[in-house]
Amino acid sequence: MGTDVIPSPNRSDQPQKNFEIDPALIIRHHKRTRRGTARIVGHYHSHPDGQALPSSHDQNHNYDPDLVWVIVEVTAEGAQEMKAYFTDRSSGQLTAIPLIQPLS
Ligand SMILES: [Zn+2]
Repeated sequence: MGTDVIPSPNRSDQPQKNFEIDPALIIRHHKRTRRGTARIVGHYHSHPDGQALPSSHDQNHNYDPDLVWVIVEVTAEGAQEMKAYFTDRSSGQLTAIPLIQPLS
């Protein structure tokens, strides 16, 4: 079983401010995962000129609490900090997962 990373167009009506995954893409991949052993484990997106912290928009669009959210801070110099989050079942809040990052 391999791992796929599938890019999505940004379907937000404010794409400079927010990111929303294409719902048709999610449905297509949920159908695909039902036919096999693959599964969707999470989403990733970047915060250009912003910190790798969930925005209120991210929190309010957390449609599946079983998925991991990865957020990358991006500046003019490129990708900076990357953080991952899970949904805390008691609070409903996206909560940081400690990541081990390779030494550069
Ligand atoms: Zn975000």
